[in-house]
Amino acid sequence: MARRKEIIVGVDMGGTSLRALVVNEENRILAVEKTPTKRDQDPENLIEDIAAEVEDAVESAGLRRNEAVDSSSGLVHAAPNLGWKDVRLGPKLSALLGVPVLVENDVNAGVVGEHALGAGRGVQELVGIFVGTGIGGGIISRGELYEGCRGAAGEIGHMVLEVDGPRCGCGKRGCAEALASRTAMEREVRAAIKEGAKSCVLDIMKERHKERMTSSIIVRALKNKDRVMRGVLRRTEYYLGILVASVVNLMDPECVVIGGGVAERLQEEFVGPIRKTARKYYLSQRDAARIKIVPAQLGDNAGALGAVVLARKRLHLAR
Ligand SMILES: [Zn+2]
Repeated sequence: MARRKEIIVGVDMGGTSLRALVVNEENRILAVEKTPTKRDQDPENLIEDIAAEVEDAVESAGLRRNEAVDSSSGLVHAAPNLGWKDVRLGPKLSALLGVPVLVENDVNAGVVGEHALGAGRGVQELVGIFVGTGIGGGIISRGELYEGCRGAAGEIGHMVLEVDGPRCGCGKRGCAEALASRTAMEREVRAAIKEGAKSCVLDIMKERHKERMTSSIIVRALKNKDRVMRGVLRRTEYYLGILVASVVNLMDPECVVIGGGVAERLQEEFVGPIRKTARKYYLSQRDAARIKIVPAQLGDNAGALGAVVLARKRLHLAR
């Protein structure tokens, strides 16, 4: 029997769930484990949860622990977005599992995933924009993740589109995130309803016991031909179009991948209008059709798969 040489576990530590993928050397997913992230958890406990989930995932892949986790080539790569920055996640997790651990920002990992295995396969220049509760971004240049001089590049969500615009989560005003994230969409829907517009969005939220306007609620409201929802969506697409155009004018990428629940659910219905607005704002109109603006393909697996790709690359460099 062939020896399973390079099993890598990709972990995506999101605000709502913890996802672990066991991936073989051909990038085939052997097992997926998913558990909800417990809010306000102390980092030590969360690190233990991650370690336990990695071990569960390895077991569900039908591997014995010493075939993967204990092997010197096993690598775990986590992508935290829980806001704790000074936690030595990598070293602590590495000590618990006994394997090398690499840590990367979740959006960067997602962009690497889409570039290597998803919507951006085969291109050298790519920008990813993930629209969720916030807007995250990442850049691939010459086939590699572009990190900038401090590792802080790709914060596309905080490009300012309106200097006096609404307040952003970062504290500044008028960032793309404050105008076109799902959080911004929800704020606009609630404001319209408060002003007397008729909309089914709050009813759907109540029916589904949701406090937030998730992407599935947005899709449901659009199916009901909710006019408020439709108007807010159009506005969001418009802002994202302007954002994509700025990114194109700066980077001239071959491909812009639009990710997040709304993009993945609505596909062309969402991305089409973004593309149309963006093109109007390209400074250079030459070969404009060469720039592909497409929805992401890997869904919730993008971050963990990208983590695997990055981990493998660094593992090979280290050899
Ligand atoms: Zn901001």
